[in-house]
Amino acid sequence: MEPSVVIRPETIGSTPAPDGAVDGPHALADRLRAIRTRMDQAATQASRNPADVTLVAVSKFHPQASVRAAMAAGQLVFGENRVQEAAAKFPPLRAESPALRLHLIGGLQTNKTRDAVRLADMIESLDRPALADALDRAAQTEGRLPDLLVEVNTGDEPQKFGVPREQADALIRACRQRFGEKLRGLMCIPPAHEDPRPHFRLLRAMAHTHGLSVLSMGMSADFEQAIAEGATLVRVGSAIFGPRPATPESTVAP
Ligand SMILES: *Cc1c(COP(=O)(O)O)cnc(C)c1O
Repeated sequence: MEPSVVIRPETIGSTPAPDGAVDGPHALADRLRAIRTRMDQAATQASRNPADVTLVAVSKFHPQASVRAAMAAGQLVFGENRVQEAAAKFPPLRAESPALRLHLIGGLQTNKTRDAVRLADMIESLDRPALADALDRAAQTEGRLPDLLVEVNTGDEPQKFGVPREQADALIRACRQRFGEKLRGLMCIPPAHEDPRPHFRLLRAMAHTHGLSVLSMGMSADFEQAIAEGATLVRVGSAIFGPRPATPESTVAP
């Protein structure tokens, strides 16, 4: 059980699925292609190189079969919210395709850090000193350290993960000192019913101040605006995989 004050992952993002009725691998490949096209257009419009923006396909709550269908359509980078779900779904897929990359994007409990460090290529949700401590210890035990992003709660929303704005600079500096180049950049999830662009701009300004190059921002509803504001990673779930099932229990294929 998660504490009730924590925002539930399925409530994040507001775009309804583009189609729900027929959802085979072809529909998924079509949606994936459409998203990539829109990403490229958004980058070009912003006078950016489309190759500088990476799509993280957020497969949380969706079965392994959907991840496989996306892989068959050329997608290699995936995002998951929960360590346990990622641990059940991804190791077999990685064995099939060593180029697969897994980003953990959900709030991370300190008691899950060893599994997270073992599984992930990037952890996008480093948001407090205690988690930095736990990740450091886990990295020493496991002998590996994923790339890291500090998640900033740009809207200072009490129910959200992410370091509050006024504590962000200190956490970023501390993580830079501790993790060096492994601290790659910043991530944010703007408030659901606000114009996201000021939040994207704030994140970009913070990254610039600290000399960090990776900006993870933008989801199904706003990835084009995020690209216009400098996103290098966009995390798109429902616009690729369709609506999320109500519970994560059914996500591991038989
Ligand atoms: C679920 C989730 C997404 C994807 O949201 P969509 O609106 O489905 O694209 C992106 N980022 C985080 C942190 C998420 O939890």
